[in-house]
Amino acid sequence: MLTPTRFLRAQWTSTLHLPKSAFPARPTPASTALYLKRCTDDLYSWQQSKRYDPNCTTSSRPETFVLHDGPPYANGPLHVGHALNKITKDLVCRFQVGQGKLVNYIPGWDCHGLPIEIKALQAQKNSGAEDGHGKAVSRLSAVQVREAARQLAARTVRKQMDGFKEWAVMGDWGNAYKTMDKDFEMRQLSVFKEMVEKGLIYRQYKPVYWSPSSGTALAEAELEYDENHTSTAAFVRFPVQASKAFRGEFQSINWEDLSAVIWTTTPWTLPANKVIAVHKDMDYSVVVISEMPKSHLLVATSRIEYLESILGQKLDTVTSGILGSKMAGNLKYRNPLHRRNAKPHPIIHADFVSDASGSGLVHIAPGHGMDDYNVCSELSIPAFAPVDDQGRFTDAALPDQPDLFQGLSVQDEGTNAILGYLKGIDTDYILGTHVIKHKYPIDWRTKQPVIVRATEQWFANVDGIKSGSMQALEEVNFIPESGKVRLQSFIEGRSQWCISRQRAWGVPIPALYRTDTGKHEAAMDGSIIGHIMKVIEKRGIDAWWTDPEDDPAWIPEHLEGSYVRGKDTMDVWFDSGTSWTLLPEKSNGPVADVYLEGTDQHRGWFQSSLLTHVARQATSEQVAQGIAHQSQTSDNKIKPPFRTLITHGFTLDQDGRKMSKSLGNVISPDEIMSGSLLPPLKHKKQKGKGNSKNEINDPKPTYDAMGPDALRLWVASSDYTKDVVIGQPILQAVNTALHKYRVTFKWLLGVLGLQTPGFDSFDLRTLHARLLDSEIPLIDRIALHRLAQVSKEVHTHYTAYEFFRGVNTLNKYIAHDLSAFYFETLKDRIYAGSITDRLSAQRVLGVIFWELCQMLAPVCPVLIEEVWEWVPKPMKDISEHPARMVWTPFDLPVADVGSQKLNRQIEVLNEVHTAIKAAQERARAEKKMGSGLESSVLISLPGQVNGLTADLLNKSREEELAGIFVVSGVSVVEDEGLETTLKELNPAWNFEEPFDIHATEESKHVKTRTGSVLVVPPNQHKCPRCWRFVAPEPEALCQRCDEAAEEDRR
Ligand SMILES: [Zn+2]
Repeated sequence: MLTPTRFLRAQWTSTLHLPKSAFPARPTPASTALYLKRCTDDLYSWQQSKRYDPNCTTSSRPETFVLHDGPPYANGPLHVGHALNKITKDLVCRFQVGQGKLVNYIPGWDCHGLPIEIKALQAQKNSGAEDGHGKAVSRLSAVQVREAARQLAARTVRKQMDGFKEWAVMGDWGNAYKTMDKDFEMRQLSVFKEMVEKGLIYRQYKPVYWSPSSGTALAEAELEYDENHTSTAAFVRFPVQASKAFRGEFQSINWEDLSAVIWTTTPWTLPANKVIAVHKDMDYSVVVISEMPKSHLLVATSRIEYLESILGQKLDTVTSGILGSKMAGNLKYRNPLHRRNAKPHPIIHADFVSDASGSGLVHIAPGHGMDDYNVCSELSIPAFAPVDDQGRFTDAALPDQPDLFQGLSVQDEGTNAILGYLKGIDTDYILGTHVIKHKYPIDWRTKQPVIVRATEQWFANVDGIKSGSMQALEEVNFIPESGKVRLQSFIEGRSQWCISRQRAWGVPIPALYRTDTGKHEAAMDGSIIGHIMKVIEKRGIDAWWTDPEDDPAWIPEHLEGSYVRGKDTMDVWFDSGTSWTLLPEKSNGPVADVYLEGTDQHRGWFQSSLLTHVARQATSEQVAQGIAHQSQTSDNKIKPPFRTLITHGFTLDQDGRKMSKSLGNVISPDEIMSGSLLPPLKHKKQKGKGNSKNEINDPKPTYDAMGPDALRLWVASSDYTKDVVIGQPILQAVNTALHKYRVTFKWLLGVLGLQTPGFDSFDLRTLHARLLDSEIPLIDRIALHRLAQVSKEVHTHYTAYEFFRGVNTLNKYIAHDLSAFYFETLKDRIYAGSITDRLSAQRVLGVIFWELCQMLAPVCPVLIEEVWEWVPKPMKDISEHPARMVWTPFDLPVADVGSQKLNRQIEVLNEVHTAIKAAQERARAEKKMGSGLESSVLISLPGQVNGLTADLLNKSREEELAGIFVVSGVSVVEDEGLETTLKELNPAWNFEEPFDIHATEESKHVKTRTGSVLVVPPNQHKCPRCWRFVAPEPEALCQRCDEAAEEDRR
């Protein structure tokens, strides 16, 4: 049986105003789809239509904000890198919607290129076709390859789009662009045509990076580097011939048997050797190896010691002091791999020769090296590369015995074949070989080594638009700033861009080749491209491959002779680089407000977008002279395609390693949304049948699934300007924060749902107006003050694209200011206080609710949608949706809010509060008290305090202070009065803690005086309704509760 006391207590509890909300503890999958639709498609189309209101005058029409999507490759499943990219973009877009902008975000996909072609071919292979990857399965026709690749890309686009939408990424999905769309291809071809007309595209036989495994040329952006590549390096000697004058000058040299020693890490390039280079200022010597005393060897003097160490032989100097400048032009040599009767080759000077490695004499093969090519072009020595598309020697590699090397893969058997041959012929030309480990370029897709090989390719002339591009970059806002130097250096260091690829899956290079002259000459100009574009418009782009080779429709009438269509396709960076053509021109600035991608795009998309965009604006004269626009008037300035360029890092596992399939550390976005990377939830025992057996038998563990917001909050909490680490501790913190948000909103929804006479409107404007009209208690002023500070801070961070700082501020605010402090002080006021108490608290909490919704809307849109769903209908009906309102940081001109004075008073209050909590802890440790209400506080001030403190800690505020500190009573006493007060009170126990009072209001660093708090037992009785110890006698209500209960009864 219940005792009467208990019974009474239970009765009083029923008169309390306890918040009730059934807001769930975690998202319910059944409703998530609905919320997702509302916060993505619905919100996006709402802001588009609402803000395109035809009744709007031009001047009142909102500003547009364009985030131009860098298209991801349409191959493979989504990973956390995609999430970092797409969600960061979404944070930007959502914040801008909250700023009242009309946001345009059209997602795109990069659909052409080798990666997709290889995948499509692989799929074909798996379904029956034989042979290895890439080129090897080339028994498929180009058309079949294109069809397979198109289907694969289309399938992947659909899958990835579904994934992006599940992350609550908002955009114009219905109009997503694909680089394989006809419309896109035509725009791209028109940019290409303009570049051809301005003389920016040319064809040349010169060395390019060539991937034997893919059978195509590659741009630098398509290379990766293997840090541990091993190569066989060799010291090789070539027999030297000297002019008579030179012979006379150095008589000690055995001219009949003098060799130049060169060093190479690619012996397979020796058949293509055309020149040996020395440096004019370096000193060279003739040395002998004791084993071959007659053989004189020419090497750089400073390299002798190194050579001895590698060859393991002592080298004796015959003569030294031969300057490079003397040798250049006076010495020639013979390459034993060339025809016996071939003319000797020159020894020349080259600036890049140094004595940092090798022998100080450099083997030059203009067909296999960029520097080599440049040096030789000046001397009119043509490039020569006896290597085919698959990286195998042709019969030209050894003209005297064409069959010997033909068909050997240069990188595998080629090196040994060449070295073996040079060792085996009459004289041994190899002095020594050794294996070296060095950094070597590999194909970014096949991961196989590439070679440098001269072929005929199409190039864009970057030199012609370089200074215009550099000028345009000056206008760009870079985040982080380091991106500027990085992009500048890439542009600066580039003179050409190889844009042709020998693959089928791409946009054709619209060139024709003449067949009746036997020279296979290329023809490509504006009118030819214009004609070809018209045919494509009519027949579709696949007709370029399917029409008969000599179909006359493709050949413009003005051309004489017979022509066929070319087979090259364009570099995919050219495809995606021209995506700015989708954006409407803006008179007052770049077409896009923001481009945002990973740092690897400085080499890729950022660069190709800038170059093509600048090429379109530059005039032919500027291109020819390689100059920028000189005029500084705004309409003449070369514009970059982006106003702000944001780069993000990569995602790493918690040990800081890159994620890769081979390491097995790849994290999928689904795992973050389902919570399966965190320990499973503990099952609650079911009442009645709960036993441990059941738990063990439960087959499926359940996880803390927080849905898309978990993935989004992880992204928003990450400093994306660096590489982003992801692992269990971070994900745990993310889920914890999300639960904190939910608990906070649940409580707020409960309190805001309490029926209080006078709490008539939930609309933010009305709430603001009511606050302005009323007296605001100190604690509420503090809460509003902090809200204003935090809201402004978060707004500033979001504006600077520093979402992680905003989220960090917000998390601290929710945990410390709201949950641990303000909400604690409010509980008694709301649950047990008068109507006036409750009403004023509800108004302040209403403002906080709105502000929280607006601050969190970009980050956790699904949560905000869910919260909105749970707002009581009558209140919702007369308010705007928080994600559709313009968010201006809270700033209300009410007493002291935002003032320095209040700031300082909060500091004082914190000091006193900290002291009280410390004293209470000691009392608890000695089992003197439990809840804070089981104590009262004496605040003892030193004799003189500043006005600010006096205004805060004084007799008239004692009741308010008790509420703030959540204790049953506060007495403020002056220092001298403390002893008297204590004597009068004679408490059963007391615990004292000091705190600092600052003597001046200006600075807390100037003189402080010490006050103290005394925590003592309360001297009244526990009120059975509010549990504060303020009742006049046992089991009686306190005065406040008496009045409040009476008020409710009326
Ligand atoms: Zn009470």
